[in-house]
Amino acid sequence: MSKFWSELTASLTPYVPGEQPKDQKYIKLNTNENPYPPSPSVVEALKGVSHADLRLYPDPTCESLIHAIADRYDLQADQIFVGNGSDEILAFAFAAFFSPNRAIRFADITYSFYQVYAQLYQVPVERVPLDEAFNTPLERFYYSEGGVVIANPNAPTSKYIPVDELRAVLEHNPDQVVIIDEAYIDFGGESAVKLISSYPNLLVVQTMSKSRSLAGLRIGYAMGNQELIEGLNRIKNSFNSYTLDRLALAGGVASLQDEAYFETTNARVIQTREWTTAQLRTLGFDVMDSKANFVFITHPNQDASQLFQALRHRGVLVRFFNQPRIDQFLRVSIGTDEEMQAFIQALKEIVG
Ligand code: PMP
Repeated sequence: MSKFWSELTASLTPYVPGEQPKDQKYIKLNTNENPYPPSPSVVEALKGVSHADLRLYPDPTCESLIHAIADRYDLQADQIFVGNGSDEILAFAFAAFFSPNRAIRFADITYSFYQVYAQLYQVPVERVPLDEAFNTPLERFYYSEGGVVIANPNAPTSKYIPVDELRAVLEHNPDQVVIIDEAYIDFGGESAVKLISSYPNLLVVQTMSKSRSLAGLRIGYAMGNQELIEGLNRIKNSFNSYTLDRLALAGGVASLQDEAYFETTNARVIQTREWTTAQLRTLGFDVMDSKANFVFITHPNQDASQLFQALRHRGVLVRFFNQPRIDQFLRVSIGTDEEMQAFIQALKEIVG
């Protein structure tokens, strides 16, 4: 008899994260981490977690962090959900709101975890092709059967959809959940949070991994109508009620209490992004207008996979996607000024 139980897992194609090299010799521009450390007050808060308290389970309601997020966005606590990174929140949202009987829509080029979750939960997908210039044809998201997921800014293209243009997608999917994944929203975009009071079908997902430099603590959050948040809580409590640990709860709250630091480091990343964009254009690259902490680039007469290898050889790690439509592009995270200068210097040596 065949091992019937192994068929499901064998058929899954899991997400492949960017490399996390064990040695320090690379300039790491491949996973969209923030080049700056988190606010010093985060470290203080972590030290404040007592040795003795680690014996105890964390607060399953994550009350302190939920209140800090509610204050920051002018929402009620019951409009907030927190999880271990936005990846986990997306997994819960797919389980909570999408069905094996109704196709959902997301772009053909977008964050590849959406496809992984759709497969995991056996949700059918209609992939909407981005246009020639990698813009999102929003009308093609109208009247979905089972829901919509849009990353804004999109990954890996870095393109941003002005938030008011999303209203039409929400209006044309009144009975479906529309997830707006705002992992990169703090680098120049405007959040869809302001639409929550008008659209009960909107779930906005954000993360502390990028703009708050806390990828290592794994903190994501979702904001939306009470009914959606209640749905997420039911799913969470069916898996693991203690999602966020004590360190993440303490660090997340501390980060939200230091907005000045957050604004300073984000402004720095944006400034470095604009400098990098200008330099790349001088070197003959096409660079998409970015509202994220990375740029998406291609060169008319350089092969992207060879560029990727040549950069790696010079100690610079960027991201190459071996997939249709984008196999001549590289995604480059914005590092410190020094790192980006070294990256541009390496490119000058390669492309001449
Ligand atoms: N959404 C998008 C579009 C992303 O690029 C990422 C980062 N890889 C995530 C969500 C997940 O981020 P995290 O789980 O660290 O919050």
